[in-house]
Amino acid sequence: MLLGEVRAEVAAVCGQLAATGLVVGTAGNVSARAGDLIAVSPSGLDYAALTAGLVGVHRRDGEPVEAPLAPSSELPLHLAVYAAAGRSGSGAPAGPVGAIVHTHSPAATAVSALVTEVPAIHYQVAAFGGAVAVAPYATYGTDELAANVVAALSGRSACLMANHGAVTTGPDLATALSRARALEWVCDVYLRAAAAGRPRLLPPEEIETVVRKLASYGQQAPEA
Ligand SMILES: [Zn+2]
Repeated sequence: MLLGEVRAEVAAVCGQLAATGLVVGTAGNVSARAGDLIAVSPSGLDYAALTAGLVGVHRRDGEPVEAPLAPSSELPLHLAVYAAAGRSGSGAPAGPVGAIVHTHSPAATAVSALVTEVPAIHYQVAAFGGAVAVAPYATYGTDELAANVVAALSGRSACLMANHGAVTTGPDLATALSRARALEWVCDVYLRAAAAGRPRLLPPEEIETVVRKLASYGQQAPEA
């Protein structure tokens, strides 16, 4: 099977999204890039039934290479983010993008309907490269939505999609998944605070300070 390991990983991450409540039913989608090929979860299939062989492999222009089912309706979004990541300079998402996780996780989706930027309730927002933008609403699966998400991801590894959900990126699937969890946590904390009162937010200068601090924090596992 072409890209067997990558497709198995995509299926496993979809299972984890469902198991941890970040997606319900067939919502959300996951992709990983391997060279010039993209492995992406199929459209409308319950994640419990998803196997590596049912994860499609597509070219970067979307053409199927080995895909038994129709791809996620958000394939244009995934392709647009990988394409933007390949362009150096301003406007590109932060860091290398080897994987993308899109969810309709409840706290992130709720916050996406309230604000135009994720409120700086906690310094953890800096872990996405700075203030996390909310991409303006457009119908799911459209090039317009893909373009809005690419713009919102500029210099970041996460964004929200207004009245829709969240997108996170990473060099690999494990990182994109852990960012999806972290983003959901930040949004959940904001909602709890906002439900109890008027939250005190961190000033943009403090988020920038933490962005710089985090740049020198943590360790990289050696390359396999
Ligand atoms: Zn969606």
